Amino acid sequence: SGRLTDRACVITGAASGIGRATAERFLREGARVVAADLDGERLGRLFAGRDGVVTVVGDVAREDDARRMVAAAVESYGRIDVLVANAGVIPLLDVVEATADDWDRVMAVDGRGMFLTCKYAIEAMAGQEGGGAIVCTSSISGMAGQARQAVYGPAKFVASGLTKHLAVEWAARGIRVNAVAPGTIETERVAAARVEPGGPEYLDEVARAHPMARFGTPEEVAAAILFLASDEASFVTGAILPVDGGYLAQ
Ligand code: NAD
Repeated sequence: SGRLTDRACVITGAASGIGRATAERFLREGARVVAADLDGERLGRLFAGRDGVVTVVGDVAREDDARRMVAAAVESYGRIDVLVANAGVIPLLDVVEATADDWDRVMAVDGRGMFLTCKYAIEAMAGQEGGGAIVCTSSISGMAGQARQAVYGPAKFVASGLTKHLAVEWAARGIRVNAVAPGTIETERVAAARVEPGGPEYLDEVARAHPMARFGTPEEVAAAILFLASDEASFVTGAILPVDGGYLAQ
């Protein structure tokens, strides 16, 4: 009865925010999940011992770790039906304050990490019956220019670009590749900013930049990821779905 019954799904960045909400939603939809994250402590606290979940602690930017995240699905469930390439770091920096190390780290996680997890997932999907589906987490920052996104924004354009190129490359082989482009989402990062000096005023301004004048929730993004991962999106590939309260429509 679930929309992902018995599907083997790898979710990176599953210990927090959007990835965590996606893992919980997928489990409710009957999926068998590999929850992967750098933060082993949180991953264990959330998922250890639960039915239908295997955890993998690793860094998506490290090739061996990215490979292990995909291999965990094949070893535990016999295949990989879905990859949600979601792990990311989100530094808000303008181009003067950003350092070369900031650039390298963000590109390593949000760029190289997305590339590597997609690469190994597609390799496995191409070798199995029925193909598979990938959903990347891009961002409104990966679709349009914004202030203080000099490093993060370009990294998210990589996510958007990878989505389109891989979609075309693998469409004929039954592998769909799509992305969500969330606006600002109510995560711990937003909660932390709320108690900083000037935080509430700044967050009000950010919320008002979205036509719906509020932040989205991780669950609202998870619902869009679920659609793109499910058979209901069977003729959808290369799409970047805004989940942004109208931000990109402006
Ligand atoms: P989050 O910080 O709540 O969760 C990110 C998770 O990824 C964390 O659990 C973290 O430990 C993990 N992670 C970080 N680096 C990793 C690595 N190298 N390898 C494996 N795991 C790693 O953030 P979130 O807001 O849920 O963001 C998830 C995704 O959504 C990111 O790709 C982000 O760019 C994107 N996004 C977020 C927003 C937002 O407003 N929160 C908006 C648009 C897009």
